[in-house]
Amino acid sequence: MYKVKEMFYSLQGEGARAGRAAVFCRFSKCNLWNGREADRLNSVCQFCDTDIVGTDGQNGGAFENAASLADAIKALWPASNNVQNTSAKPYVIFTGGEPLLQLDEPLTRAMHERGFEVAIETNGTLTVPNGVDWVCLSPKADAKLAITQCDELKLVFPQDKAMPERFSNFDAAHYFLSPMATPSIRSGPDGTKASNTKRALTYCLSNPQWRLTLQLHKILEID
Ligand code: SF4
Repeated sequence: MYKVKEMFYSLQGEGARAGRAAVFCRFSKCNLWNGREADRLNSVCQFCDTDIVGTDGQNGGAFENAASLADAIKALWPASNNVQNTSAKPYVIFTGGEPLLQLDEPLTRAMHERGFEVAIETNGTLTVPNGVDWVCLSPKADAKLAITQCDELKLVFPQDKAMPERFSNFDAAHYFLSPMATPSIRSGPDGTKASNTKRALTYCLSNPQWRLTLQLHKILEID
């Protein structure tokens, strides 16, 4: 049984694959926060801006097995767009919540059988099953990591317990800083999005291993 908060077809808004069309499958639940506001400040990850509770979002639900979820994901990909070259291949991004609480090899296999390339966006605290083609690792606070190798490392910045120096020797093809936007728990001149963007920009200028990524989907107000 897979529990999915929501699924939708959109453009990837950040990182090395920004602008690429994808089906997003957002699993319910995370292992670093239970999704309840009352527990936020007692959680490992305190700045989540995503609703990760339940299965009541767009196209969400409980799916009995890998085939039924894979079919539902495939149904969201435009039927006319099945070109099988690398850049236009059907693409699914499993996110969350923490996708590795639920994503397993039967599901990656089912997606491959339907012609999809499989990506995940993970906090890195759990191991990755076989069949994942693209790993975006986004470490949170001092959470112990199970993986140190990925395709892109996308670090929300700044995080007191997870500054870039901790990850600069990880095995990644791309290193991104994503400015933190958390008006609900950080306010004032040093906690605004603009301030965090400026800090990230300054860090990238001094440390060119890291590149700035912005959340285009939020800037452009697309889903
Ligand atoms: S690790 Fe990601 S999904 Fe989990 S609480 Fe933090 S931001 Fe939200």
